[in-house]
Amino acid sequence: MVDIVVRNAKLRGQPGLADIAIAKDRIVAVEAKVSAEGAREIDAAGSLVLPGMFNLHFHADKSLLGAVMRPNVSGTLPEAIEITNEFKRNYDPAEVAERTMRVLEAGVKNGTTFFRLFADVGTIGGLRAAQGLLLAREKFSHYCDVEVVAFPQEGIVRDPGAADLLEEAMKQGCNIVGGLPWYEYTDADAREHIDICFEIAKRHDRDIHMLVDDTDDENSRSLEYLAVKTMREGFHGRVAASHCGALAAYNDVYAAKVVDMVATAGVTISCNAHINLVCSARLDREPKRRGIARVKELLARGANVVTSQDDVNDPYYPFGKPDPLECVSMIAHVAQLTLPHELEQAIDMVTGNAAKAARVKDYGIAPGMRADLVVMGAPSVHEAIRLQPLRRHVIKNGREVARSVVSQELLK
Ligand SMILES: [Zn+2]
Repeated sequence: MVDIVVRNAKLRGQPGLADIAIAKDRIVAVEAKVSAEGAREIDAAGSLVLPGMFNLHFHADKSLLGAVMRPNVSGTLPEAIEITNEFKRNYDPAEVAERTMRVLEAGVKNGTTFFRLFADVGTIGGLRAAQGLLLAREKFSHYCDVEVVAFPQEGIVRDPGAADLLEEAMKQGCNIVGGLPWYEYTDADAREHIDICFEIAKRHDRDIHMLVDDTDDENSRSLEYLAVKTMREGFHGRVAASHCGALAAYNDVYAAKVVDMVATAGVTISCNAHINLVCSARLDREPKRRGIARVKELLARGANVVTSQDDVNDPYYPFGKPDPLECVSMIAHVAQLTLPHELEQAIDMVTGNAAKAARVKDYGIAPGMRADLVVMGAPSVHEAIRLQPLRRHVIKNGREVARSVVSQELLK
């Protein structure tokens, strides 16, 4: 007798169906027919089963503020920052945690078992947003893994005092050092910003996840410096860069150099197609750019690419369920990933690639791996992306943590 057996599961890249046996928090067998009985038996009925999905870039502290704030009239990032600052002055950690958990709940139901949450840390809101997300991490630990990023939303050099607050945020339990170098006033300040982040990360032996070159400006070049700094500091595989929209604006020769550096340094690129489609290229007349990194060129060079849900109903972005499949569908559209092998690459962006970026070692559907599984509710990667069905079962650390029951019929 084992704890759970998931029967008749369709696994990626494998013919036929398989059973998955789980004991405690581990997968103990993956076989055509598991003879042991499960205390809980789940029939996947031919549905695709994936390991738990990731959202590696989510500003949970601002989530759902769209319901209480004035709309972003220009639709730009600077106006979104300005609107949010007012509210941030009075953040209450308990209120931040409450909003965060409402969104985490929706994400878990959609099969997300790992979140990297960004907390604004700076002189406007102090550490209150970070304390709220740390509280949510603790309260929701039954359902998902949460990492909290200490993120300097108002910059570091241009927000004197932010560096000390980042340091303190790491001491209070944040997992990842954030950054926003492109937001500094000058290139020199952007490089100093990156240097400061590495100093903090080295002191606390933590990984780094920055928002980089989130602009249509071809002169925004902090990704190049981040990559070279990553190589020189020996941080290979420990750094992620979100957005990097300027990469699309660079000339092709310079872009190829930076793509090569990113791959060589093992820097993960996190695309956030939703928000960039909405916020970027606002100054373009026509044609309007898409505002995302050169996904196909990064993939072709072997760089690690993930896709994430940046915002959920806040002044930056008014939508977001959140659902990793929605992110996959969006990146597939924007980066034109439509061939069968490209759909597989797209689903990797919320599964294996994200696990690699977060350095989760025991990830995947095989004996010995952590029992984080999602019964997707569709028979293939293609159909999962196309239909974005309700996830039928979500298993975290060997416990069923969410399920859906749906009945829909066409009437005569
Ligand atoms: Zn973001």
